[in-house]
Amino acid sequence: MPLGFELVELTADERALQQEVREFLARELPRGSFEPGLGMDNPSDRGFSKRLAQRGWVGMAIPKRYGGHERGAVYRFIVVEELLRWGAPIHHHWTADRQSAQVILKFGTEEQKQRFIPAICAGELGFSIGLSEPDAGSDLAAIKTRAVKVDGGWQVNGTKVWTTGAHETDWFIMLCRTSDAEDRHDGLSQLLVDLHSPGVQINAIPFLDGGHHFNEVVLTDVFVPDDLLVGEEGRGWLQTGSELSFERGGPDRLLSPWLLVEEFLREHEGTPLGERATATLGWAVARFWGIRQLSIAVNRMIDQGRAPAAESALVKDMATRFEQDVIEAVRQLVEVSPSLESGSLFERLLARSVLAGPSYTIRGGTTEVLVGVVSKGLR
Ligand SMILES: Cc1cc2nc3c(=O)[nH]c(=O)nc-3n(C[C@H](O)[C@H](O)[C@H](O)COP(=O)(O)OP(=O)(O)OC[C@H]3O[C@@H](n4cnc5c(N)ncnc54)[C@H](O)[C@@H]3O)c2cc1C
Repeated sequence: MPLGFELVELTADERALQQEVREFLARELPRGSFEPGLGMDNPSDRGFSKRLAQRGWVGMAIPKRYGGHERGAVYRFIVVEELLRWGAPIHHHWTADRQSAQVILKFGTEEQKQRFIPAICAGELGFSIGLSEPDAGSDLAAIKTRAVKVDGGWQVNGTKVWTTGAHETDWFIMLCRTSDAEDRHDGLSQLLVDLHSPGVQINAIPFLDGGHHFNEVVLTDVFVPDDLLVGEEGRGWLQTGSELSFERGGPDRLLSPWLLVEEFLREHEGTPLGERATATLGWAVARFWGIRQLSIAVNRMIDQGRAPAAESALVKDMATRFEQDVIEAVRQLVEVSPSLESGSLFERLLARSVLAGPSYTIRGGTTEVLVGVVSKGLR
């Protein structure tokens, strides 16, 4: 089956929104007033998330009856592209806005929709992703976290790992085994778990740059009430597949090194760039533009009600490999030893990029796994 990409242009309305976000950021979060993040790797700031929500920029693709703005995935693309380019502290609402609200909207009960989605759209509730385990990453169906039926709910035992932001967010949507089945893709379910529940222990896993992003989440006899089962019991595998379409095809997979390049140019302002740097930047701009077009096309497909799993996987793979190539190309252009303590923002960003870059093709699905998803989609 051919992939469904179509050439897209932004409309006048979409461009006006882009300008509005740029002006908001320059006013509310002026350059120099904060340490910018690398794309979606940025700090959590509940206050900033709420201010964005008050502007109507959280829950943009969510129906109005649940506190959203019904403007669609492309409008959301435009807003988050500007936030990511600016390195704004969006981590608190990031996962909830990108995928958790969509999962609840698609599979949740009416009661769950009323309880969680308006709070997400208000920038109040933050979510993490509870998929990976010590022995289950790419091979996700191998997860061992188990929920056993008890009176009024489920008793959960197991360990999740690499859980980004769990020490700061409020809930996660967790994939776990609720029954044994001949096909191990069956018998999995999604539960909404309050990260402050008794029996949930969150242990930091330091990242290479010394920062605290990752966690191990250990669940010991955690009670999850019946009304927090998402969708159908035993259908968690299919539901998770749908969630990953939202996770993979967006601008967050493309923009991690944006500020690095911007700061490189700022440091060279007023001096000629030279032939090598000009050629490198020309190459980067051309590739960036093509992948960005594909990412917007994925979001147009989502707006048309399609589930572009293969297209999202393709964009994620191309975009994250591009991100790593850009970091390496910039590193080759300068003769500095990158340091996290440098007084130069460019050098700090370079140091963080070199340390974080290898993770770009792992988080959200590895290159090898994505190639498999794309090839299945082409059959
Ligand atoms: C920055 C970051 C943030 C993350 N955040 C979260 C999070 O919030 N929540 C969460 O649940 N998880 C998170 N993860 C985990 C991430 O989803 C997994 O690391 C990823 O899915 C790979 O799983 P793994 O680490 O177990 O590696 P493995 O699956 O063990 O893979 C190891 C290597 O083997 C290759 N491989 C595996 N299977 C195959 C195959 N069939 N064919 C060919 N090659 C194969 C892989 O491509 C990889 O190179 C995060 C990871 C990173 C790096």
